Amino acid sequence: MFSIVLFTLGPVMTNTYLIADDETGESVVIDPADEGKRIVNEAKKRGWRIGSIWLTHAHFDHLGGAAGVADAVNPPPPVALHADDYSLWRIQGGAAFFGMRIDPGPEPTIELHHGQVLHLGNHQLQVYHAPGHTQGHVMFHNPAEDILFCGDVVFQGSIGRTDLPGGDFSTLINSIHTQVLTLPDETRLLTGHGPETTVGEERKYNPFIQ
Ligand SMILES: [Zn+2]
Ligand SMILES: [Zn+2]
Repeated sequence: MFSIVLFTLGPVMTNTYLIADDETGESVVIDPADEGKRIVNEAKKRGWRIGSIWLTHAHFDHLGGAAGVADAVNPPPPVALHADDYSLWRIQGGAAFFGMRIDPGPEPTIELHHGQVLHLGNHQLQVYHAPGHTQGHVMFHNPAEDILFCGDVVFQGSIGRTDLPGGDFSTLINSIHTQVLTLPDETRLLTGHGPETTVGEERKYNPFIQ
């Protein structure tokens, strides 16, 4: 079974997803926003090993817990990020713009690219490069389960902001049209902030993508 544990963490209520293959006990943290130790404890409680950290993008609110996860897991799980967000990662995900400082954790060593297939036990997730909110933003799609971890690309009734460095509105809208709305209506969208939604709901009701 493909399991998902949701945490909402950090100063701007970012969604962190601890995902696992129940059969093998392999797990991954998508966007460890904060409280790394708490995420690791939850995995331990369930008998899961955290093998990697996958970042949808390098904004500080999506990686503030990476250092805590790395400190509590031996060996520290490698961090995966798209190369176009490395420069953002190097400035702590823009934390200074918000008057904050974070420890970004271990340097990313897995370079994500569009079309790449990532393995989690017996499950496979595909990487979609979806720029616009940041240049190196990616989404993780599990086609067998009809689930898209879409980060800050699209939210219930809204879309990611594009006024921060590296953001571009028309690029984001294009990413949504070519990579989100092309998926079946029943596809679950597990977003970076707020409640989960579906492709069909957003196709119908999201005012930004009519
Ligand atoms: Zn963001
Ligand atoms: Zn965010």
